[in-house]
Amino acid sequence: MRLWKSRSQGSRQEKKKGEDILSRIRKDIRRVRRQGDPPERDPASFSRYSCDLCNNTYPKKDLRQCALCGRWACASCWTEKFYACKACNGIITLHLATEKPGE
Ligand SMILES: [Zn+2]
Ligand SMILES: [Zn+2]
Repeated sequence: MRLWKSRSQGSRQEKKKGEDILSRIRKDIRRVRRQGDPPERDPASFSRYSCDLCNNTYPKKDLRQCALCGRWACASCWTEKFYACKACNGIITLHLATEKPGE
């Protein structure tokens, strides 16, 4: 696996203007599921599915798929602020704390 830092080797170090903070965040997030893929079904019951973060089971209506990583998250593993799961929320928060927008 190539580290992203080595990307600038041999080429001009140039900041892409079209690359916003969200696309950098997306690069840091590993996709767990494809968008539209269903959550993991609880083998012990027919109508419950497991949260990809805490592994508790819920009815499907209580789970939401994260637009960034594709994980299915329950209400307590979900952050409304970024419309993302808690795992991605941590990455987003980290980026926002270390990067100044507009510079
Ligand atoms: Zn959960
Ligand atoms: Zn996520």
